[in-house]
Amino acid sequence: MEVLKSLLPDKNLLLLESCNIDEERREVIVLVSSVQTAVKCPVCNEATHKIHSHYERKIADLSWANYGTLLQLRVRKFFCINTECKRRIFTERLTDIVAPWARRTMRLASRLTAIGLASGGAAGFRLSQKLGLNTSRNTLLNLVRRIPLPSPDSLKIIGVDDFCFRKCKTYGTIVVNLENNQPVTLLKDRSSETLSSWLKENPGIQIVSRDRAKAYEKGIKEGAPDAIQVADRFHLLQNLAQTLYEVFGIYSKDLKEVEQLQNQASVIRDEENIVVVTSPTEAPPPVKQNKSRTTSCQKKRKSSKNLGAT
Ligand SMILES: [Zn+2]
Repeated sequence: MEVLKSLLPDKNLLLLESCNIDEERREVIVLVSSVQTAVKCPVCNEATHKIHSHYERKIADLSWANYGTLLQLRVRKFFCINTECKRRIFTERLTDIVAPWARRTMRLASRLTAIGLASGGAAGFRLSQKLGLNTSRNTLLNLVRRIPLPSPDSLKIIGVDDFCFRKCKTYGTIVVNLENNQPVTLLKDRSSETLSSWLKENPGIQIVSRDRAKAYEKGIKEGAPDAIQVADRFHLLQNLAQTLYEVFGIYSKDLKEVEQLQNQASVIRDEENIVVVTSPTEAPPPVKQNKSRTTSCQKKRKSSKNLGAT
């Protein structure tokens, strides 16, 4: 039993009562009781030890070997002794073990969340099955959605760009903290009003990197007038590539003549006093403009977005 105690989520707060194996369900059933002597009311934070009643929760936990684990957790309800508190009876909290009303331990939820983050819903579900974790695709996605967003209080340098929700018909805006490259939030559309409102709710931003959309330019001016607007690297390189393509297009005739002359010329090289006539170096194939990189999504973006100079 001592070994089994060490496997509990918290052996200081839980008392191991018994442990049985259900071979048919391939499950270890562990009966445990909470042994907290005093608990705090979740509303007024007043400590109390006045027990109202007991009840049992069934909580899934990490697998033990090839067996799933079910904790039959006996917890209590307490009276709040603060006469001014609006809550009269409350259930005890086991903050580091299980969330209120949750059906799995925190450590199991943490593992499933990690799988959901790394693999997504469908692939995460398949991986979970292989690892003996009983879950579903939607559960993984729900766990990922419940991860609290980082506090935007310290945001100073951000990047904004649009993304499509579905088949390039509706667009949203993603905001990224460029100091740690972590997404901060997703905005419902890519309008200047939405971006402006979000910036006003998150003051203190000093630099905003963006594309050439006028809606973003306007939204930043309205929402964070003191912030410096800069063009992001992708769009600078895109501008450079477009400009070079146009320039080479203007002089394409001259460039072809130079190329032909170069191919016809012979190069004489002196190798230890022996004059060798070598054939000209074969010119590399001309680089074609890779138009296929402009996806249908980007084409629609170009047509639907009002672009202006950065
Ligand atoms: Zn209270």
